[in-house]
Amino acid sequence: MATLFGAIADDFTGATDLAGILARSGYPVSLRIGIPNSPPQETSPFEVIMLKIRSEPVANAVAEARNALAWLTSAGAKQIFWKYCSTFDSTPQGNIGPVAEALMSDLGAKQTIYCPAFPENGRSIFMGNLFVGQLPLAESPMKDHPLTPMRDSNLVRLLRPQVNGKVGLIDRMTVARGAEAIRASCAAALEQNVAHLIIDAVENEDLNHIAKACADMRLLTGGSAITMPLPQIFADKGMLSDQKKGKQIPNIEPKAIVLSGSCSAMTNAQVTRYIAQGKPSYELDPRSLAEQGLLPVLDWLGGQKLDEAPLIYSTASPDKVRATQELLGKAQAGSIVESSLAKLAVAARDLGARRIIVAGGETSGAVTKALQVDRLDVGPEIAAGVPWCFCTSQGHHIALTLKSGNFGSENFFSDAFKKLEDM
Ligand code: ADP
Repeated sequence: MATLFGAIADDFTGATDLAGILARSGYPVSLRIGIPNSPPQETSPFEVIMLKIRSEPVANAVAEARNALAWLTSAGAKQIFWKYCSTFDSTPQGNIGPVAEALMSDLGAKQTIYCPAFPENGRSIFMGNLFVGQLPLAESPMKDHPLTPMRDSNLVRLLRPQVNGKVGLIDRMTVARGAEAIRASCAAALEQNVAHLIIDAVENEDLNHIAKACADMRLLTGGSAITMPLPQIFADKGMLSDQKKGKQIPNIEPKAIVLSGSCSAMTNAQVTRYIAQGKPSYELDPRSLAEQGLLPVLDWLGGQKLDEAPLIYSTASPDKVRATQELLGKAQAGSIVESSLAKLAVAARDLGARRIIVAGGETSGAVTKALQVDRLDVGPEIAAGVPWCFCTSQGHHIALTLKSGNFGSENFFSDAFKKLEDM
C-alpha cells in the first residue's frame, strides 16, 4: 500500500501515542521501531518511525531524523510530520528546531508550523504561550525536568535560538476565523521570509482549522493531537479510497504474560489491582537477580498456566527503588531489571505466550529488542495513548501492548485482555 503520511517521533511513548491517535481513524497504521534496515515494502498509508532522539546531541538527532525521512519519502509519503512532546521538551540548542530545519531543507519546504497543543490533555497555546492545564509551561512541573527543564512558556522565544530562519506567530484570533484566514496568514508570513510559525490552538476545532489550512504543507510539526483530523482530510481528497478501513484483527492464541518494569505511581496501582484480582504473580528483586540470576524466575514461569496471564514485575514503591539503587547503583539496578524482563519475554514467548503486556517505556524498548520486533501494526486503543499492536516474533503472531509509566487506569491489565477478547 502506498504511504501518504510519514511521521518521525522523537521518543518511544510519543510514537505509540501518535500511532494510537492515527489508528482511531480505522485506516492501517504501522509503527516502526527505529529506521527499518530494508527499503520500504508493504507499507501502510500511515507510517510512524520511532526514534529516541529527544535528548541526543543535536548532530545525531538531525542525522537520524534525515535517515528516517529518506525512508519515509521512498515509501511515497506525501506529507511528513515531526512529532515531539506536547510540552515542547527542548533546550536552546534543540532538538525541535534543528531537526525541523533539516527536514525542511531535505524536503524543499519553505515554511512549517509548530503546534504542540493537545486540548484533550490540557495542553493549549494562546498568544504563543503554552499552558499545561491552567499553568503556563514554565510554572508547570516541566520547569524541573531533569533533561529539558522548561523555564519559559513562550514558544516563539523558545524556538528562536534553535533555528536559523525567522520565527513568527499565528495567533488564536486568526485561527478562530478558520482555514482560509490561517492560509492567508501563512502566505503573508512567507512573504516576510518567516519560515517557522508557532500556531495557537485552545480547542479541537482550532486543530481542525489548522490541519485543513496546512493540508498541503510538506512538513508539519507538533504534538499528536494536530494529526487527528488528517486521515479524514486525506479521505475527503480521495487519497485513501483504495485503503481498507477496519483492518482484520489477527486471531491470537490466548496464552499471555504481563511484564512490568515501570515504577510509576499508576503502574504500582495497576500491579496491586491485578494481584488483588487473584492473578499469579512473581516479584523480581534486583538484588537477588544480581546474586542468583534468572533461574528461580524461569522455574516459576515454567510451572505457570499461561492462559491465566501471570504477572512478573519489578514495579516497586519509590522507597524500595531508592534502597535498591543505593545498593546496586542506579544504572546497574535499571539494566539488571531491563535485561531480565527482556529475557523473560523471550522465555514466555517460547513457552507459548502470544498476548504480551509490557509496562514501562525503557522496559518496552528492551523487550521489543529482545523479541526482535521492528514493526507493529497498530490496533485499537485500550486506554488513551496505549493501543494493542500486532507483530511477529520468530515467526509467531503476537499481540503486544507497550504501556508507558502513568498511562491507563488501575484496571489496565485486565481491561487490555478483555479488549482482545471483545475484538
Ligand atoms: P516508566 O515508563 O514508568 O518510566 P521505564 O521502564 O521507562 O518505566 O523505567 C523504569 C526504570 O526503572 C527502568 O530502567 C527499570 O529497569 C528500572 N526499575 C524497575 N524496577 C526497579 C526496581 N525495583 N529497582 C530499581 N530500578 C528499577
